[in-house]
Amino acid sequence: MSSYSSSSASSNSPCAACKFLRRKCMQGCIFAPYFPPEEPQKFFNVHKIFGASNVTKLLNELLPHQREDAVNSLAYEADARMKDPVYGCVGAISVLQQQVQLLQKELDAANANLLKYACSYCHPSAHAGHQQVLLPYHSSLQWSNNSDNEQMREKGGYVYGDVDGS
Ligand SMILES: [Zn+2]
Repeated sequence: MSSYSSSSASSNSPCAACKFLRRKCMQGCIFAPYFPPEEPQKFFNVHKIFGASNVTKLLNELLPHQREDAVNSLAYEADARMKDPVYGCVGAISVLQQQVQLLQKELDAANANLLKYACSYCHPSAHAGHQQVLLPYHSSLQWSNNSDNEQMREKGGYVYGDVDGS
């Protein structure tokens, strides 16, 4: 079905706009490149919201390479307006803005937590401070023990020497 309604179908049958407006789709029809016959809803929405004559005027004022973007934008806005007649695109925009605000708050909270953890890691807490004090004290204690042993050995040597001397 999709292969049938591709290029051959769109070149033979009138575009969605001309079909809807019940007019002959002439060669060079301004709607034909953007409103293929297999997407009748696209033109229906755009026509209902903006009006076919306004869309024709708008497309004629634009350069050919700008027309596709313009039609896509009109189709998006028309679709949004059909779904939400009061707010249209603005409804979607405000929902997305609310999501951005919510995610920004989550990001701020995550960054604050990250900073908290980073600070507790970098700055010595009470526990880390005790360890730092304990380590040199412990090593000096070991050192003094060694020196005591050294002194005892020296003393012994001295005593021995003393004994040897006498
Ligand atoms: Zn046409």
